Amino acid sequence: MSFSGKKVLVTGGSRGIGRAVVEGFARQGAKVAFVYHSNEEAAQDVITSLAGEGFETVTAHKCDVSKQDEVDALVEKLVEEWDGLDILVNNAGIVKDGLLATMDGNAWHSVLSTNLHSVYYFCHAVTRPMMSQRSGRVINMSSVAAEFPNQGQANYAASKGGIQGLTRCMATELGRRGITVNAVAPGFIETDMTVAVRNAAESEIKKSIPLRRLGRPEDIADAVMFLAGDNASYITGQIITVDGGLTLGGI
Ligand code: NAP
Repeated sequence: MSFSGKKVLVTGGSRGIGRAVVEGFARQGAKVAFVYHSNEEAAQDVITSLAGEGFETVTAHKCDVSKQDEVDALVEKLVEEWDGLDILVNNAGIVKDGLLATMDGNAWHSVLSTNLHSVYYFCHAVTRPMMSQRSGRVINMSSVAAEFPNQGQANYAASKGGIQGLTRCMATELGRRGITVNAVAPGFIETDMTVAVRNAAESEIKKSIPLRRLGRPEDIADAVMFLAGDNASYITGQIITVDGGLTLGGI
């Protein structure tokens, strides 16, 4: 799979799944711009380590995905510089778990803003340039929690369910312009986001997964790259679950 010369924008590309997505596209020849929020060191590490492998077409951009003015400014700048944009991966996300009865407004609004409103902001900003070039791929990061939420994740499950509805609707609106819109729903992946739960119950979690291992960021990046590649040109409006069988319920 080659993405030679393709222009790719990845949100939350400095750590975890997003980092694996950035690395995957960069190693296949794409120009990649990724967004991070506050961890400069992690962002710089992505650039340095890829440069060490000989891939120097990656840039990091500090931007709060929950702020529409920052998103619009970044997309406008990139589209002008690159003269278009081929692939958008909306990956940035956070968790602020807690039972609904005690969940305060900040936990609700910050998760919805970072995980869901951001996807609207980026999709809204890239739609016109992609429509005028009559091509584009959008891949949104959902979660199995959209359909199989754990207790304490009302905000997170709502944000990921919202992403699935947005994905399907956008696919119906943009298909005739040559743009596909899909989502990936990961299960349990080894990233910073899951450290606390893994520390508490990793072996129990593995027993509930038919493939008997947690997912790696690269497992998700592979699905994202498949959806962005030529072999997925007739797939749109789909949610691809990548969870080692976690949600089959057969254990
Ligand atoms: P992670 O390791 O915690 O990394 C999160 C990334 O998002 C970081 O690059 C972070 O940048 C960025 N980010 C967070 N808030 C941001 C903001 N306001 N503006 C810009 N960037 C922001 O997360 P992950 O586990 O890789 O998860 C990536 C995506 O997959 C998320 O959407 C998550 O919901 C989804 N997902 C993960 C799992 C899992 O098991 N890990 C399962 C299902 C779905 P900074 O470091 O600079 O803040």
